[in-house]
Amino acid sequence: MKKVNYIIVGSGLAGILFAEVLIRNNKSFIVIDDTSQQSSVVAGGLYNPVILKRFSEVWRAKEQLELALPVYKHLEDMLEVKLDYKIPVKRLFNSVEEQNNWFIASDKPTLTEFLSAKITTNDNEAIKADFGFGEVKHTGRIDTNMLITTFKKYLIGKGQFLNESFKYDALKEESNHIQYKNIEASNIIFAEGFGLKENPFFKHLPLNGTKGELITIHAPDLKIDYVLKSSVFLIPQGDDLYTVGATYEWTDKTNKTTQKGKDELLKKLKTFLKCEFQVVDQVAGIRPTVIDRRPLVGQHSKQKRMFVLNGLGTRGVMIAPYVAKKLFDFIEHNKVLDDEINITRF
Ligand SMILES: Cc1cc2nc3c(=O)[nH]c(=O)nc-3n(C[C@H](O)[C@H](O)[C@H](O)COP(=O)(O)OP(=O)(O)OC[C@H]3O[C@@H](n4cnc5c(N)ncnc54)[C@H](O)[C@@H]3O)c2cc1C
Repeated sequence: MKKVNYIIVGSGLAGILFAEVLIRNNKSFIVIDDTSQQSSVVAGGLYNPVILKRFSEVWRAKEQLELALPVYKHLEDMLEVKLDYKIPVKRLFNSVEEQNNWFIASDKPTLTEFLSAKITTNDNEAIKADFGFGEVKHTGRIDTNMLITTFKKYLIGKGQFLNESFKYDALKEESNHIQYKNIEASNIIFAEGFGLKENPFFKHLPLNGTKGELITIHAPDLKIDYVLKSSVFLIPQGDDLYTVGATYEWTDKTNKTTQKGKDELLKKLKTFLKCEFQVVDQVAGIRPTVIDRRPLVGQHSKQKRMFVLNGLGTRGVMIAPYVAKKLFDFIEHNKVLDDEINITRF
């Protein structure tokens, strides 16, 4: 019999960031994952405090960023890899009206810190940007694929990872612990992303899921060192490779790439990219999106040792450290969960 404080189901951003809190607080745990979901592995990994369609602040952006960046730094030190790439995001303007809206937004108290009031002109022949760009500050990219790969290796090395599907019917809640096969734990955290739909304890929650596809292009003549946001994002990965994405699809709930997704991305890309390029890769995943666009955090109404950490939606990089901390403080320190994120709202 193996005794631990926690079992975590899922090693995507939600599961990993919760595990990071446990490590910092000297709690023992086991992580179980079967790689059935891909969202965190394929994610663009951007963190950006501004919604660039409407020029408005992302929900609790400042608070989340201040909490998240030191956590990723801790993970970099622990895993001895680079994860956080500070890189500016430039929003391409399509009209004078968009430039004006940007100026108005950059003057708002919640946004001045994040939006540069200056418009930069384009001097890159590979890009069509007649109205220039606006720059967002305090942005960057977390290499989520690297994070997940190295974190799993770290856990395997410590005998804390099980590469298997979680069997919900093998879980028993006793009066003073949880029993799962030969593991005895004080609590269990379900962080399965869209896999939550198979979880009999929490599948009633309104997680609708939004499929996203990305392509990688090789474009030697592009030479940009910032993230470009137009109708799609263009994210530099080094070696003349760029990630282009993403699509939003609500009916197909598979992790399979499609020709339709690729065509949509290429069509949008060609509206502003003028140089030659080749598509070298394509990936897909399901974002765990929720009807009211807020995370799903909390305790099962009857089984008091069961918890959920989900609903990171389109912004897992910024939200995961924030909700992981909230859930830990709720379980270990009896801190109240905000109504906004607590599953009791459903
Ligand atoms: C194309 C795309 C681009 C994105 N770009 C960005 C971006 O630039 N910035 C950003 O912040 N966010 C981005 N996101 C969103 C981000 O990926 C998600 O918010 C986040 O990854 C969700 O993490 P999660 O851990 O909740 O879920 P997941 O990543 O889905 O992880 C869940 C894990 O649970 C495991 N699992 C599920 N069921 C079981 C089971 N029964 N047994 C064992 N294991 C199980 C799965 O295998 C998986 O590893 C993007 C998403 C997509 C799809």
